[in-house]
Amino acid sequence: MDIQNQTVIPVENPINGKVLYEINDNPENVASYYKIADEVQQKIQAMSIKERIAEVDKINQYVLDHSDFILDCIIAETGKARTDAFAAEVFEVGDVIDVYKKLAPKLLKDKNIDMPVFLMGKKCKQYFEPLGTVLVITPWNFPFYQVIVPSLLSFLAGNATIAKPSEVTPLKPLWDHFFANSGFMKDAIQVVFGGKQVGAALIQQRPHKIHFTGSVKSGKIIGKLAAEQLIPVDLELGGKDASIVFDDINMERTVNGVMWGAFTNAGQNCTGIERLYVQETIYDKFVNELVNKTKKLRTSHIDRDTKSPEDCDMGTMTAPFQVAIVEEHIEDALAKGAKLLCGGITEKGSMHMLPTILENCNHTMKIASEETFGPTVAIMKFKTEAEAIALANDSIYGLGGSVWTKDLARGERVARAIKTGNFCINNHMINEANPYLPFGGTKDSGIGRFKGEEGILTFCNHKSVLIDKMSGIIEPHWYPFTNTKAQLLRNLMDSWFQKSRNYIKFAINGLKIDSIGTKEQIK
Ligand code: NAD
Repeated sequence: MDIQNQTVIPVENPINGKVLYEINDNPENVASYYKIADEVQQKIQAMSIKERIAEVDKINQYVLDHSDFILDCIIAETGKARTDAFAAEVFEVGDVIDVYKKLAPKLLKDKNIDMPVFLMGKKCKQYFEPLGTVLVITPWNFPFYQVIVPSLLSFLAGNATIAKPSEVTPLKPLWDHFFANSGFMKDAIQVVFGGKQVGAALIQQRPHKIHFTGSVKSGKIIGKLAAEQLIPVDLELGGKDASIVFDDINMERTVNGVMWGAFTNAGQNCTGIERLYVQETIYDKFVNELVNKTKKLRTSHIDRDTKSPEDCDMGTMTAPFQVAIVEEHIEDALAKGAKLLCGGITEKGSMHMLPTILENCNHTMKIASEETFGPTVAIMKFKTEAEAIALANDSIYGLGGSVWTKDLARGERVARAIKTGNFCINNHMINEANPYLPFGGTKDSGIGRFKGEEGILTFCNHKSVLIDKMSGIIEPHWYPFTNTKAQLLRNLMDSWFQKSRNYIKFAINGLKIDSIGTKEQIK
């Protein structure tokens, strides 16, 4: 399936290759969505936060009532194992809604802001206002979660939202059903189907904000398109997470945790473990156990015609072009001296890949330096903590990572030393299950933060407001500029900004300055 430059895009079931339906990458008429958004945004803005939460509750209820249907839709287009789809897409949506029902009223409330002493008598506040229309563009690996979560956060902040899901997994049957049955406010979130052309055309309409999740390559293009029109943009991009295993671990727990971190969602996670650094003192035992357990994972590959995703630990790959990248990385690694411990390419181009472990890897290999986004883990050995940190940081990406050790002080030392936006100690990726924690990348992994307090504030205009009384006072820094005023201001600065403040001098100059504006005003 080459989806580039095609107007009609077939959406395929990766489990059996059947075409489910088609969508059009037709960039005409995208302006009509903005017209609708402009109208509905006025209504959303006028709603209280309580009323907006009541709407979001309808999403929650829809997810509870239709979770099996949602899972069926997701699995049909992604080939995920059912538990993967449930945990990361359905359960997580409930969790996000639960948390933001508490967070949103607190965060969107006007905030009283402190002031320097020079502004005595005035008040400062910050308002958190809607931006207008937010454009959400999303990838194919978590097609429900990635669309609904930023959209509902944008809605809670008072915006109209236009969401363009990936052309690989648009979930059209799910969105059609959602809008017909959830009772959620009409047009507050519009889901627009299409590919890159539709995405680019939506950007040309100048949304008030773009929230983009996808690859580094596309992120750079979106960043440029946004910059041309000065549209604020969040870029949640790819990763190449490193996991560091020290020799003081609980072996059983760590092997299980690393195996899940590498292969959950068939490795199609921006924060999946792709690089694994194991301390040499436990290397053989650890790698042996990891390989033994991994070989026992029940994958979609086995008995593929009869096995349903219900029975799998690891589902299929979702996109043929991603399979090609994973294969290219495995072949490149093997050609450069890596040793295949399990998995590998059993049938070229098959969506049913096996969990693949490679050792003797190094950073000249694509599998250790470029995002693979598949069920592979590249293992490397290290001796010292410093060496492990240097290896983990030797990457253009900076999304997530993890360390496994009983020594929590060392765990935190490593967490601080690794240049990523997210990190776990004795776990992996699970930070994302806490909606109170912001998520985002450093380096090529992106710009901005999503979820946490930032998750709502990123969709707001942070308006700074100063409130002064309507008194008769003429401010000393207003016209005319005189030598006396300048000297008083200088005295004020000298008395206040010194290491030891001169309160008496400050008070005397303060009193004089209060009246000088009125005395020396232009008559
Ligand atoms: P992609 O960049 O190819 O596409 C993402 C979305 O952008 C799609 O909807 C696509 O249609 C749209 N798009 C692509 N080019 C565009 C253009 N020029 N103009 C407008 N829209 C355009 O990414 P993908 O292959 O769908 O997703 C996989 C990538 O997403 C991986 O790199 C993965 O790491 C990343 N990802 C990141 C996060 C995160 O939170 N950081 C989460 C999930 C996935």
